[in-house]
Parts: sequence; C-alpha cells; structure tokens
Amino acid sequence: MINVPKGTKDVLPQESYKWHFVEGVVREVAKLFCVNEIRTPTFEHTELFLRGVGDTTDIVNKEMYTFDDKGGRSMTLKPEGTAGVARAFIENSLYGNAQPTKMYYITPVFRYEKPQAGRLREHHQFGIEYYGAESPSADVEVILLAKTIFDKLGVGKLSLNINSIGCPTCRKTYNDALKSYLGSKLNDMCATCRERFEKNPLRILDCKEEACKAVTKDAPNVIDYLCDDCKAHHESVCKGLQASGVEYKINPRIVRGLDYYTRTVFEFVSENIGAQGTVCGGGRYNGLVEQVGGKPCPAVGFGMGLERLILVLESLGLSVGREYAPTVYIAPLCDSAREITPSIAMDLRKSGISVDYDIMNRGFKPQLKYADKLNAKYLVLIGEDEMAAKAVAVKDMESGVQEKVSLDGLVTYICQAKRG
Ligand SMILES: [Zn+2]
Ligand SMILES: [Zn+2]
Repeated sequence: MINVPKGTKDVLPQESYKWHFVEGVVREVAKLFCVNEIRTPTFEHTELFLRGVGDTTDIVNKEMYTFDDKGGRSMTLKPEGTAGVARAFIENSLYGNAQPTKMYYITPVFRYEKPQAGRLREHHQFGIEYYGAESPSADVEVILLAKTIFDKLGVGKLSLNINSIGCPTCRKTYNDALKSYLGSKLNDMCATCRERFEKNPLRILDCKEEACKAVTKDAPNVIDYLCDDCKAHHESVCKGLQASGVEYKINPRIVRGLDYYTRTVFEFVSENIGAQGTVCGGGRYNGLVEQVGGKPCPAVGFGMGLERLILVLESLGLSVGREYAPTVYIAPLCDSAREITPSIAMDLRKSGISVDYDIMNRGFKPQLKYADKLNAKYLVLIGEDEMAAKAVAVKDMESGVQEKVSLDGLVTYICQAKRG
C-alpha cells in the first residue's frame, strides 16, 4: 500500500466542512475590509525565496521543497505566502494603480520540518497583504482585520503581542548592542545561533533551544533602541489600537523568523495548543518589495495557519461548522418509483433544496437507517400505493410526523415546511 507522505494529511469528505467553515469566515471578513483575493502559483523560482525570505532563515536553509524541473531550473514549493505576492505585485506593476493594494490569499505552504500539532509539512495559510501604505493606520487596520476574524469565530481568548524591531538604521545600532552582549557567551549557544551571530543576531532571540533562551534572557531589547521615526510609528500603532479598544501586550521578545520584517511585528497567541501557540503572526515588511527586485514600497500584513486555527477552535469547544446534511432524502420502494426519483430530486434541487436519494438499491429499512445517518431533515417515501395515487409520504425526521403530499405539490410543501 502507498501511504500519504509523512507530514501531510488527507482532508476527508466528513471533515472538509471545517476548512469550508474557517475559509468562509476569513473570506467574509476580507470582504468587510474590502480586500480582494490574489492567487499565485504553488511553486516559484527558488531565487525568489532566497531573496524574499532571507538566506539566514531556517525556512530557506533547512525547510524548502526545492527541485530542478525538466528544464534544469531550480523551483521551490511555496514555504510561505508573502514572497509570491510581492513578486506578483512587482511583475504586474500593481504599484501603478492607486494605492494601497490590499490583497488576501488562501494557499497551501510546504515546509520540510518536524510535523507538529496543526503544522504539517503541507498546511494551509490565510494571509493579508497591504502594499503602498507607510502609515501606522495600515498596521492598525490589518490587526483589526485579524481581530475581527477571531471575534467572529468566538475566540476572544487569544492574546495580541506586539513589538517593533525598527528599521535598518536603528537595527544596526541594536545589532551592535546585542552582539557586544552576546559576544562573550558564544560558546553557550547552539551551532545555528553561532552562525546567526554575524549575519542576523536578532534571530538568536527566536531560537527555541533552552541553552540559547537562557543566554538571551537578559539581552537588550530592540524596542529600546528605536530611532525617532520608528518610535513615533510604534507609539502611533499603540494609540490606534487603544482607540479601537483592542487589548494588546508589548512583548519585546517577538522578532519573527523572517528577515524582511521592519518596525511592527505582532502575534496572536493561544494558550490552548501548547508551546507553539502562535495562531497568527505578522507585521510590517517595508524592505521586501525592494529585496525581491521592485521599487521600494511599504507593506504590512499577516499569515494565519488554518489547521492551527481549527485546532484552537476545537480545543475551546467552539463551532467549526457542521457536516453537510441533505434537506430531503428520497427513498423509492419499488422499481417504478426508482425511475421517477431523479426527476423528483431535480425539481426540488431547482428550487434550491438539497436532495439525496438511494442509488444502492437498498431495501426499505436500510434506506431509512441511511437517511437517519445522513441527518436528512425530511424523508420522502414512494411506494406502489403512492405511485398509484400520484403522491408521496413525507416524514419530518425530527418530529416523526408523516404526511401524504401530492407529487405536484411536493416542492411547495417542502419549501413551506422549511420556512415554518
Ligand atoms: Zn528606525
Ligand atoms: Zn540557538
């Protein structure tokens, strides 16, 4: 037998409704915020991610699914959603339109990492991308968008952590301070962090190794080294959140794992899915568009793992939608009834009523059992007597009440019963 590859998962017909549910909510909220969807390819030139994610990140160094195509070009399955959007923004000259350009995506992402709860090697992300807006109002707006999604889903308990990691100017001052703090402790850190020390010391703060966490416990915080502009931006974001009644905590330790972040970084964190509880992470990445070959362009956004979100909802006992159930199940009980069943079904479907019926040639009792299993709202029985009378028996599965209805009147009957 051939198994599903490690770290991947089938979404089976009896559970896909959960994905539809969360996708429905995020699309609905995107619409409320007047954001349109962008769909970019599942694979891109590897170069895009080297430039757009950063060659000091774990994603690029260890986790990408990279392959040569038949033409000898190096391709990579998207490890995240943003780089492809930035590429499309530049390639299609979207900066030529009136700004901002607001986009959302729902995409599979692929990372070769140790599978963990809600974070498989292929999982799905919803993301928001606002391009062209420099102002702190854009940061506030995308945070409000994420918050609206969580509110709609009923997850009030997520805490919003925000931080600012500055711009290239103030980051340089900070990196020097961090390096002089860490310089004498290099031997206590993991091999990866020793490498990060020269190229990107900020990322050492993100390391999950206990030894490194101990070393960085009292390290200086980037938020204390912001230049005047970055400081003003950060304060303005905080004020905007307060004015909108959004609770947040300033957490100087959030630095996000990706190189392109500047200024605002934020995470929505849940206590319910263990240590790796980040449900949504984002921030500002003013350097990205230029880094992947465009003109400088401010940008802010976030990404949200859909599987993780479903896990959080389930762990909190919140709704994840429900499996689809037919309004009507038709049980034909003789051959002539079987012949007319499809046309009865089609009449109902044309009126917007969902219908299922027996195609297994089951007998009376098994059909009844099956309709019950499907959670059908109404059972329509057609036997020889009903055929003769040009009528059917309609049973309300919940109340158990059964009525005789003329074949011609069935659609009207069901429509009225549904409304009542
Ligand atoms: Zn700065
Ligand atoms: Zn480390």
